[in-house]
Amino acid sequence: MAKQVVTRTYTASIRNQQRVSDDLDSLGFAASKLWNVGRWTCNRVWSEIGRIPSHAELTAYLKSHERYDDLHSQSSQRVLQELAEAFNGWYGKRRNGDTRANPPKYRKHGDEHPRSTVTFKAAGFKLDTQYERVRLSKGSNLKEYWSDFILCEYKTRPDVDLSTVESVQQVRAVWIGDEWELHFVCKVEIEVSDAPGEKTVGVDLGINNFAALAYEDGHSELYPLNCLKQDDYYFSKRIARCDDSDSDQATRLTQKKSARRTHYFHILSKHIVQRCVDERIGTIVIGDLSGVREDEENGESRNWGKHGNLDLHSWAFDRFTSMLAYKAGVEGITVERVSERDTSKSCSCCGRTRKANRVERGLYVCDDCGTVANADVNGAENIRQKVSPSLACDGGDRSNGWLAQPSVYLFDQESGCFAPREQATS
Ligand SMILES: [Zn+2]
Repeated sequence: MAKQVVTRTYTASIRNQQRVSDDLDSLGFAASKLWNVGRWTCNRVWSEIGRIPSHAELTAYLKSHERYDDLHSQSSQRVLQELAEAFNGWYGKRRNGDTRANPPKYRKHGDEHPRSTVTFKAAGFKLDTQYERVRLSKGSNLKEYWSDFILCEYKTRPDVDLSTVESVQQVRAVWIGDEWELHFVCKVEIEVSDAPGEKTVGVDLGINNFAALAYEDGHSELYPLNCLKQDDYYFSKRIARCDDSDSDQATRLTQKKSARRTHYFHILSKHIVQRCVDERIGTIVIGDLSGVREDEENGESRNWGKHGNLDLHSWAFDRFTSMLAYKAGVEGITVERVSERDTSKSCSCCGRTRKANRVERGLYVCDDCGTVANADVNGAENIRQKVSPSLACDGGDRSNGWLAQPSVYLFDQESGCFAPREQATS
């Protein structure tokens, strides 16, 4: 066992809710106003100079704005940082070909005051773990003669003890629809297992097979994630039938769809990590899609949404990768992200990239060495080799066709987990 420091967020309810909610409301409203001022400023700058200002530029520009002093300076800074991150997320989606992505919106909530999350960094809060209280600083504009902070009495889950964590980095006040709650972002020391082994596995994420795995010894696995396709199809149809895409019903269906997706990602990442433990893997090598901006072939941006019914964008793969990295980390397995460049085009057996090499019905065919392999497995093996080069092929035990027969794992509705195809009932 080894020790490792990781970041964890613990939620806590506020015991003196009635007493502090008005104060938190005004901070949440102030954060929304500052967001809107920032959003409006971005538009202005955009029409003046043709680009969105960076977080640093925006902060420098708005520091003297009246609304900036409604919150503690670090909290205001954080609001503008979130805005900059939202813009970056939007650029990222656009780059990856998501033409339907929208820039960050203004924060409104009917005629009511919107309550944005307020973040308090080191200088903005004071934690008393003995009495389970935390002081949250107000901005100078909202200070009253008798107080410049809000004193919240909090209650964490029984298994969480904030006095034992390494450090509390941030406190966030979050409106959850009917009341405020607190999120403590902490550095925590955890025990991690020693790696189950030293072998490597390559993981290629994609549309047809959500994940393809190529193990060092040559065997491979495919995860088509048909269940997700069926779910997406079902929910998309029901959402399309709603009269109004902003209606409560449409929102509920969209939330349900997203929750089901998260559920599959959790189960699949858990399953893959367990497979890695069984196979004595020390390192998972995974393709980093965020580095791929354009299709290498034709220079056009990738559009994931075009493939079949499945509407998956690069952020979905990013999310899956973080889940996998998190679960692997607990088992002592390292996850390395490598660029996907050329991994779909070269032959994982002889290493050659030739125009004549092609993909036919999901099979990669190499004219040079005669390899015929599942195209996604070939990609996964190329990804794996970026970290651990192959010794096989030149007389090793990888005879021609060694990658041709992957095991296929399907989601089994009955057991709620992934099972090899012959065992799955659905
Ligand atoms: Zn070849």
